[in-house]
Amino acid sequence: MGDFSRKVRMGIDVGGTYTKCIAIDNATHEIIGKNEVKTTHDAKEGVALGVVQSFKSCLTDCGIAPEEVVFVAHSTTQATLAFSISDIVIAHEIFHAVENEHEDEIWTRAYNRTLWRVGRFHYKSHIACLSEIGAMAFAKRLNNLTWCPFLLDALLIYGYSKQSASSLYKSMIHRGDAIN
Ligand SMILES: [Zn+2]
Repeated sequence: MGDFSRKVRMGIDVGGTYTKCIAIDNATHEIIGKNEVKTTHDAKEGVALGVVQSFKSCLTDCGIAPEEVVFVAHSTTQATLAFSISDIVIAHEIFHAVENEHEDEIWTRAYNRTLWRVGRFHYKSHIACLSEIGAMAFAKRLNNLTWCPFLLDALLIYGYSKQSASSLYKSMIHRGDAIN
């Protein structure tokens, strides 16, 4: 075993076009190596192949021994898109099923607003969108999503009208709370 006094941190990012790897000296934070390969969308191993390729090349091209690597960070814009729509829909419907079973006590169903009041008469209504907000929040939590699944609404509308889909998307992003 050699003397691996240098410690190296590696970061890999899978982007839509390129998979990039970067190596940083753990002590000085100096960039000591870089590598990029085309993201391997069509590979049998998927984008993982490009991750391995860029990682290995970064090590060999920059003379970094595997033993020097003390930390690897992996981020990707692809992972946030690698979700299963059916998992989200199922989670959403599970929430509604639970709501149905606990209709009388669950807040999303039981919460009422008085819409109007005349003398002793008043009209109360529950707020339908609470159920949908709850179901989406549940789906988000259950699927560990980093984005709000309400964004799917924009995707689903896209097939019917590109214009209303993009304006819905814009208004969601603009509010910011839709993606948090
Ligand atoms: Zn729903």
